[in-house]
Amino acid sequence: MALTLDLSTPESRAALSPAAVPEKKPLIGLTREELAEALLTVGVPERQARMRVRQLWHWLYVRGVSDFTQMFNISKDLRAALDETFTIARPEIVEEQISEDGTRKWLMRFPPRGAGRPVEVETVYIPEEGRGTLCISSQVGCTLTCSFCHTGTQKMVRNLTSGEILDQLLVARDRLGDFPDADTPDGAIVPAEGRKVTNIVMMGMGEPLYNFENVKKALLVASDGDGLSLSKRRITLSTSGVVPEIYRTGEEIGVMLAISLHAVRDDLRNELVPINKKYPLKELLDACRAYPGLSNARRITFEYVMLKGVNDSLEDARELVRLLKGIPAKINLIPFNPWPGSAYECSDWEQIEEFADVVNRAGYASPIRTPRGRDILAACGQLKSASERMKKTERLALEAMMIAGHGE
Ligand code: SF4
Repeated sequence: MALTLDLSTPESRAALSPAAVPEKKPLIGLTREELAEALLTVGVPERQARMRVRQLWHWLYVRGVSDFTQMFNISKDLRAALDETFTIARPEIVEEQISEDGTRKWLMRFPPRGAGRPVEVETVYIPEEGRGTLCISSQVGCTLTCSFCHTGTQKMVRNLTSGEILDQLLVARDRLGDFPDADTPDGAIVPAEGRKVTNIVMMGMGEPLYNFENVKKALLVASDGDGLSLSKRRITLSTSGVVPEIYRTGEEIGVMLAISLHAVRDDLRNELVPINKKYPLKELLDACRAYPGLSNARRITFEYVMLKGVNDSLEDARELVRLLKGIPAKINLIPFNPWPGSAYECSDWEQIEEFADVVNRAGYASPIRTPRGRDILAACGQLKSASERMKKTERLALEAMMIAGHGE
């Protein structure tokens, strides 16, 4: 997702100084073991640590509190000690935009880490009937340079921490009234029943498998049954194809998988998704075949951006079907959304439909859907500096919505 470094205010410039590095350590995003260790450092006796972790976990992830004073069953003294050393505060919301169709977009600012600078990240929420999908980022920038992707042209700034990855979910749940005793904003478009955020997709900015440890920690917290309690079947991690970490994802995280495929021949994929030079198609598809727990109800999503005259021939479609043979799969055809300076055009609509027909006839679902949130994106487009961000977000909103239907 698009983001900018914010140096516009005196506070943000002051934050560049190492002296301004926040001293309080975030508790959001720690494992239970790390949380227990953190509690020991503020004098919680070892015999109480497990019980205190349980209490904190409940306040942080079931009740959604962001202030120690709200933790009523924890003594005042301990709350004060926690507050002195740790933080559970949410990031600043710089901007919130709401589309007529209910799509929401938040621009969040995270404090500097070490000698770094504050960074901003966009998170997008897409409501549909019976489902609300949140598209989350894992890195600020990206080290990969997929030639059709705007993010790939932006410099890698840093990995997001596990807490910052989770903060995107917590902020969305705050703003949607998705914690107990919280009110949903008047007029908000959300699923008619149950939770407001039902699915998450790790497909915002960055390659999540290049930030494996933080992504793993965040997703294990998000799917913890005593906390945020999102089913792993409703969490999808999208990767460009970091093969060794695909195996680890299956074994250590166990969420649903999406692959940015985009080409069916190594020579073309080397160009579109350069990580293919390191992990070519055969290795990638072997890792997909070995992904644990696949079935018709638990399919891998293959993302395929439709580029005119590049990867959209019917021969490509037939080869795609051949390559995926034996893998329970769903194929998301994504109309390319050009960005300034991009070398590609979107395939003609007829061509996309014919391509989809070949794939459908072979028994694969291959939805093509219309983008969401166009009105907020249009409003955003009136801000010159935000125009590039708008296009990226539009693409992400579309992809996130498409992928959210996966595995159900
Ligand atoms: S498609 Fe994903 S991995 Fe490739 S450059 Fe864009 S953000 Fe990075």
